[in-house]
Amino acid sequence: MSTFYHSTRSGTDPVTSKQAILNGIAPDGGLYVSDAITTTALDLEGLASAGYHEVARRVLGALLPDFTAGEVAACVEAAYGDNFDTPEVTPVTPLGADWLLELYHGPTCAFKDVALQMLPQLMSVARRGAGDGRNVMIVTATSGDTGKAALEGFADVEGTGVTVFYPAGKVSDVQRLQMVTQRGSNVAVCGIRGNFDDAQTEVKRIFADEGLRSRLAANGTVLSSANSINVGRLVPQVAYYLYAYGRLAAAGAIAPGDAVDFCVPTGNFGDVLAGFYAKLLGLPVGRLIVASNTNNVLTDFITTGTYDRRRPFHKTISPSMDILVSSNLERLLYYLSDGDVELVASYMSDLAEKGLYTVSPQLLARLQETFACGWADDEATRATIRSTWEGEHVLIDTHTAVAKSVLDARPSEGRERVCLSTASPYKFSSDVLAALGRDTSNLDGFTCMDELARLTGTVAPRQLSSLRDARELHLDVCDRDMMGSFVESACARVFA
Ligand SMILES: *Cc1c(COP(=O)(O)O)cnc(C)c1O
Repeated sequence: MSTFYHSTRSGTDPVTSKQAILNGIAPDGGLYVSDAITTTALDLEGLASAGYHEVARRVLGALLPDFTAGEVAACVEAAYGDNFDTPEVTPVTPLGADWLLELYHGPTCAFKDVALQMLPQLMSVARRGAGDGRNVMIVTATSGDTGKAALEGFADVEGTGVTVFYPAGKVSDVQRLQMVTQRGSNVAVCGIRGNFDDAQTEVKRIFADEGLRSRLAANGTVLSSANSINVGRLVPQVAYYLYAYGRLAAAGAIAPGDAVDFCVPTGNFGDVLAGFYAKLLGLPVGRLIVASNTNNVLTDFITTGTYDRRRPFHKTISPSMDILVSSNLERLLYYLSDGDVELVASYMSDLAEKGLYTVSPQLLARLQETFACGWADDEATRATIRSTWEGEHVLIDTHTAVAKSVLDARPSEGRERVCLSTASPYKFSSDVLAALGRDTSNLDGFTCMDELARLTGTVAPRQLSSLRDARELHLDVCDRDMMGSFVESACARVFA
């Protein structure tokens, strides 16, 4: 039972959750999943009065069974404190007839903080458990927000280092500045010439590179991941689905057992998969609505059953969702096929070799039982930011607006609906300001931030406005084939 996790591509070689967190990805290239999740029922008693810490302890306790209750409690305490600007951690507020789950109150103003303030805590416990004194280098590809959140979470954490690759020219000004100004003696940041999928593919290759791994192992270093392929990132995200449910119950909007729908702006499918985990664990989840931008590969997949990444990549105003290969879908396929590892492995090899796969009609039917989908282009996204501000006086960012736009286009199915809000609008000031009708063509990022504050009477988070005085420390940009050697030299420097 303590070996709770195994690969999506083989049922053999099970590992504990501590090992899964340290490894990041399974040796055969699959992602770690647990079969027990379908039979584990979470304690949903008293959710309406449970605080965030209590909810997080229940979720972590159930999904990381080899962590002691004391370890879980200490991790929760350390991860969700003053670093969030509200003790609620992820408050729920009204949004017209629906609800907004605000996931951007952490140190980097994006939802990634909820998981990445926790992952270093889990990793430290797991390292102590391994007891071999090895150092862990986190290697992460980012579409913009994971990178900063990983840097912030792991900076100066004993025995760890963090290397981040971002697609140069394809993240917002503020996102880039957040990363290149990061301080800490154990951090490395590099832009790559290519897009997020290129970076993520190369990071996966680096993890599978035996030669590199053994050279690093000889120096006492292992590689791990802070992308949502790591279970230590996925598990903390399950908590806010429960917390949101509890808030709706506390507000009297639902009675115990009523199902709730969630609409999730999606890229790598980590966030929405956490909602599916919540459902597997017994939370009354109605529909999970997968919202995409113009890179709408998931809309097509959920509609037709064919996942086809052979399509143009679009750079949009919701860059953290500019993804054509959604890694965590592999976990969903595992669960929807009742754990058919050969089938999952064959879909994944088709995707790698041919660029597409088609799931069986049975699997598609099961997918559509729970998941709905929709997409919004940049124009619809802008229109939604504007109408939400003018109609509700709620200022939302470009990613949240994709979800809200998809939600608005769907008829209600009679259930309460929660729209996940994944970033502060100030992270994308220039696009948000333009959506409100301002001409931003000659304005830099910080002028846009000031202007957005003035126009809306809201306040820019200090950790973003203070970037204007921060020094740029990490100026490297490299080609994709140099990423491996960049990681090696970062390990040599950080763990010297
Ligand atoms: C990462 C991110 C997303 C997409 O989340 P996934 O877990 O990759 O699906 C959406 N919005 C924002 C602001 C993000 O940073």
